[in-house]
Amino acid sequence: MLCVALGGVLALLAALLLDQSTQMRNSLVWVAHSSEVLKTANQSINHLRAAESGLRGYIITHDPAFAETANGEIAASRKGAAALVQLTMDNASQNDRSREIRTLVEARAISLEQSASLARSGQFKAAEDNIATGRGRYLMTLVDARVGDLLGEERALSASRMGTASSRLDAIFWLVVVGTPATMLLVLIACMGLIRRIREPVEAMMAVMGQLGSGDRSARIATDMRSREFERLALGYNAMADELAQAVSDQVHSEERLRLTNLELSHTAEVLRERGEVIELLGGMAHRMQAARTDEELAAIIRVFVPRVLPDIPGALYAHNNSRNLLVPIAAWGGLEVDPAGFAPDQCWALRRGQSHFVIEPGSDIVCAHVADATDHYHCEPLLAGGEVIGVLYLKGVVEAENRFRLTVLTENIASALVNHRLQRGLREQTIRDPLTGLFNRRYMEETLALEIVRVLRSGDPLSLVMCDVDHFKRFNDEFGHDAGDAVLQAVAVEMRSRFRDGDVICRFGGEEFTIIAPGSTAADMAARVDVVRQAISELTVHQGGRTLGAITMSFGVTAWDNSMERDGSTLIKTADAGLYRAKREGRNRVVIEQRADLVPG
Ligand code: GH3
Ligand code: MG
Ligand code: MG
Repeated sequence: MLCVALGGVLALLAALLLDQSTQMRNSLVWVAHSSEVLKTANQSINHLRAAESGLRGYIITHDPAFAETANGEIAASRKGAAALVQLTMDNASQNDRSREIRTLVEARAISLEQSASLARSGQFKAAEDNIATGRGRYLMTLVDARVGDLLGEERALSASRMGTASSRLDAIFWLVVVGTPATMLLVLIACMGLIRRIREPVEAMMAVMGQLGSGDRSARIATDMRSREFERLALGYNAMADELAQAVSDQVHSEERLRLTNLELSHTAEVLRERGEVIELLGGMAHRMQAARTDEELAAIIRVFVPRVLPDIPGALYAHNNSRNLLVPIAAWGGLEVDPAGFAPDQCWALRRGQSHFVIEPGSDIVCAHVADATDHYHCEPLLAGGEVIGVLYLKGVVEAENRFRLTVLTENIASALVNHRLQRGLREQTIRDPLTGLFNRRYMEETLALEIVRVLRSGDPLSLVMCDVDHFKRFNDEFGHDAGDAVLQAVAVEMRSRFRDGDVICRFGGEEFTIIAPGSTAADMAARVDVVRQAISELTVHQGGRTLGAITMSFGVTAWDNSMERDGSTLIKTADAGLYRAKREGRNRVVIEQRADLVPG
């Protein structure tokens, strides 16, 4: 708007200047024209006067050159008068005067030409008279008067035109003097206004941008800017700020979600890692338990691994005894003292209900009778295998919820290992035991003997072997029947098991023959111990089928290892057997010490 006004003012100024200068140029043209008219009028009269002078010269001197001059001047005067008429065509009154002047000049020219013509024909006097007539002077007076009028009028015109040109010049001067500073002032005001109108919104926008830059995402530009361009700019900026705020908020939400997901993931990974470790640990435990040969080995494995799976909680593992009327301790850890006698199954709520039973705080649940301290926090976890309760894991402490899986996997592992161990033990027993007497069988005896010989070779300790046989056993069979014979064999086995010491390996060699491997005993020591057993057996009274069977006696051959014997034990057995037969021969019911058979004469 301001620019339009400014443009208008400038255009007006330019138009005024153009108009004034055009008018001044016109005025000057007219001034020049007047000057031309004045000059032409003067020249025409001057030529006429010169023609008259020339003619007078010719008449006086008779010199034709003057005549020539006079002719030229007359022609020039005519020409001037004609030019004057042409020049004053623009002004009717001046033109009329010019025409009159031309007529008068013509009349005077004709008069002068007549005089010239007379002079040329030698009538100089006539010619002079013709010039000197009053008509000639009168004509000149008329010409002068008319030219004087014309010149006066033309000078007035010229003066007026000069005045006009001067006033135009003044107008231009004032236009320049006043218009230029006024325009500059206007331009200045316009620029200042423009700067203000730009600066205010720009500052407002910069302030909001600064706020946004310093984190205030709600900062927006006020849209009443008094300028459509700035309003559009502000709207555009605000829309961009809205988008930015939305994007930032979306990003914050995404980052938060990502952070939570990461937390969950790392927690899950930690749980999985921990579970993996526990499972690996339990895998190692299960592997060892499967390889365990004895209950003691099993207990040792449990004592090592359970505290690693459930740290800082003392505990004990109980399992049913063979008759299932007691839970006997298999292993205890963490300094827990257990009663080796165990407890009855109905003293444990976990066993009664077949599920976990725990007391988190005193009084929160019923306390099992087998728990010594009634105020304890404790946990009983039944061991289940194939739907059957086989034992219980007692923990003197509470297993936290996040560690329950450890307990679950642990009890499952122990239960299956325990069942497996018992199964294996049973199978192993079946392969090494004689079913009738419960003594080790011949195969086991041979294996054990070979092992003992290897040990003896290394240690140099003594090793004795006994071969024994029930005397006249056939008679029991014949007299009382086969079952009576079996009963005799069982009674003899029980007696031997209870009489021989722990390290002695008592085996049924076959039929009514038995072998005893006695590591650490010399032949003499062994013979002495064997004799005690022999004596005890001879005093046995066996009842079978309501009958009392007759006295039982046995014969024994004892021998000791010497390094010249076969390493597979065959020489040792053969030698002891030789002793046994010698005992039979010598009257039975006795103990005979035998040296190597090939050394014994006869
Ligand atoms: P000796 O004093 O010379 O040893 O005489 P013996 O009768 O004991 O010897 P013999 O070798 O003639 O008889 C052994 C008998 O033992 C033969 C066999 O029928 C019997 N017998 C072997 N194994 C069993 C068993 O498992 N049960 C029963 N009841 N009898 C058996
Ligand atoms: Mg016999
Ligand atoms: Mg026999």
